[in-house]
Amino acid sequence: MGSVERIASKFRDEGLRMTPQRQVVFEILQASDAHPSAEAVHAEARKKFPSLSLRTVYQTLHDLERLGEVQLLELGTGQARFDPGVERAHHHLVCERCGRVDDLFAELPSLELDAEASRGYRVNRAEVVFRGLCQSCREGTDASA
Ligand SMILES: [Zn+2]
Ligand SMILES: [Zn+2]
Repeated sequence: MGSVERIASKFRDEGLRMTPQRQVVFEILQASDAHPSAEAVHAEARKKFPSLSLRTVYQTLHDLERLGEVQLLELGTGQARFDPGVERAHHHLVCERCGRVDDLFAELPSLELDAEASRGYRVNRAEVVFRGLCQSCREGTDASA
């Protein structure tokens, strides 16, 4: 995800209305490495704009996805998560208890498939999800655990 100014101009190029409410959605995503859900972005954005609707947040997030600025992740945590880290390909670590998502930058053994294994698919990308318990869940420091 690029700078807020660059995204704002990309939005305007697309003929999308640039509002302070949308801009705060950009800022929250950019400042977060938690791969927030739309609900989490909404909760944060409402501190600044109490009347902001979840619908506007969803729409802004999906516009950002369409423009290639965020990636939508379905990681089985119950809610779609949004990842602004699209510049550098990476994998994810997912906590099965609290739903925490962390980036994983690691060179993994080749994910190339031979013709038989790929069953006729033309594969565009592959990502690996490592599931387990995050450090706070392991240490039992999470009050909700
Ligand atoms: Zn956890
Ligand atoms: Zn990520």
